[in-house]
Amino acid sequence: MSQEGEKMISFKYKIAGGLVLGLLATVSVGTSHAAKLNVVTSVAPITSIVKNVGGDLVSVKGIVPEGVNSHTFEPAPSDAKVLREADLIIMNGLHLELPTINLANKVKKSTTKILNLGDAAITKNDWKFDFSFPAEKGHPNPHLWPNMALSQRYAEVARDALIAVDPKNADIYYANTTEYLAKMAKLDAAIFECVKSIPAKNRKLVTYHDSYAYFAPRYGMKVVGAIQPSDFAEPTPREVIRIIEQLKKENVPAVFGSEVFPSKTLEQIAKEAGAKFIDELADDDLPGEVGDANHTFLGMMANNMKIMTNALGGSPACVADLDVSDAAGTH
Ligand SMILES: [Zn+2]
Repeated sequence: MSQEGEKMISFKYKIAGGLVLGLLATVSVGTSHAAKLNVVTSVAPITSIVKNVGGDLVSVKGIVPEGVNSHTFEPAPSDAKVLREADLIIMNGLHLELPTINLANKVKKSTTKILNLGDAAITKNDWKFDFSFPAEKGHPNPHLWPNMALSQRYAEVARDALIAVDPKNADIYYANTTEYLAKMAKLDAAIFECVKSIPAKNRKLVTYHDSYAYFAPRYGMKVVGAIQPSDFAEPTPREVIRIIEQLKKENVPAVFGSEVFPSKTLEQIAKEAGAKFIDELADDDLPGEVGDANHTFLGMMANNMKIMTNALGGSPACVADLDVSDAAGTH
């Protein structure tokens, strides 16, 4: 073999070797969890939003299990370990997760920030105090996310916080968020359609759990009442009688329970008032199972609108063709 030929062979070898090394490097980056940002969240809607904004770059752990009362949730000792390892902690704020935030402040790395989405999205002037969140208790209604304008704000605030921790990937966070905001905007428009399909006299909500305080004014509905007392116990007999009278007076067609808070009392109230009892609205319990295309925050809101329109005389066609799945790469 000529010298020229030998050089050629060793050159080819080097290229092949380089390619193999390159591939190995790609594989190890692609599968290594150490390379991802550890983000800890609280309730499922926030976990879902952060997953869509962070995509492949983050590993998101929501510590409030679905189906659990997030308002009285106390973190387990095992959550201390999760919070200790977090690179960023994203909560709703507005006093929803006080015990978890107390624990996080004790155990988190000194460099890890706690972001409260609700406090970043609105000012104290916009806080709502109402049925289950009376002003005298000092804790505002924390359910901002069913209002899609506010949950879009959540996505933007989460994006900016992720970029502050991981600035080299800013372009990817921007692209993920833009894609997600477009999906959210479609759902927002669909919710307006849903409410428009409900006869005007029926655009009233009576719920057990008080989670539509920020939703109702955006979409032209009225929260006539929320039945759950501020201590999350069952209402007193006197309160029950008052609610039944109010329901009859307002001629409310349906009252809505929540899967997280099954209430025999609400069922009884509905019966006495001659209203339908629908026990399926959700504010932080995602539909289906983990891995289902609709097991997302957007899926939960689309499902709520299907239930609401059906019960109040509207048409659920408004949410029939929506894509509520997570963006590719979220997990
Ligand atoms: Zn709630």
